[in-house]
Amino acid sequence: MQYPEPIAKLIESYMKLPGIGSKTATRLAFFTIDMPADDVTDFAKALIAAKRDLHYCSICGNITEDDPCDICQDRQRDQSTILVVEYPKDIMTLERMHEYQGLYHVLQGVLSPIDGKGPEDLNIASLLKRLQNEAVKEVIIATNATPEGEATATYLSRLIKPAGIKVTRLAHGLSVGSDIEYADEMTLLKAVEGRQEI
Ligand SMILES: [Zn+2]
Repeated sequence: MQYPEPIAKLIESYMKLPGIGSKTATRLAFFTIDMPADDVTDFAKALIAAKRDLHYCSICGNITEDDPCDICQDRQRDQSTILVVEYPKDIMTLERMHEYQGLYHVLQGVLSPIDGKGPEDLNIASLLKRLQNEAVKEVIIATNATPEGEATATYLSRLIKPAGIKVTRLAHGLSVGSDIEYADEMTLLKAVEGRQEI
């Protein structure tokens, strides 16, 4: 039996989300149909508003409603340090710690030859441009402790160090393969404080 067109379309849409196969998508689609109409409207509106109102910051690559983002515009923050992360969600996690006062840069991923992701696919050129123009003394590389994250850190270090800028890496309080997203605040704080020059 074929699903009616509207639910087939809904299943198809859910399947476009990461980590969601046809089984989960079907479950979510049927769940959505049973939700109160107002909740479904709010859900749909939130999807559209997020896509319409959010942009990538032209300086750091963070997601933001205003460009440049609040962090880049905040002159109170330490302009001499840039912390490099894989994705905007990592900034949210680090900001929850309320300890780090410097700036950020979002790579939008890591080097991954298997996935065909090379340096030109990441926000590396924009980082190097910032290092030329801004008074940056230290770059903290906070890519995840995966093989790809480590390779990306090494690659960036080789690019940045010749410019006389200190390059550090988060301490391995974050165990190999662990995502910044899942680290608790204390672990993160220790990882930032115990960062080491690479
Ligand atoms: Zn920004």
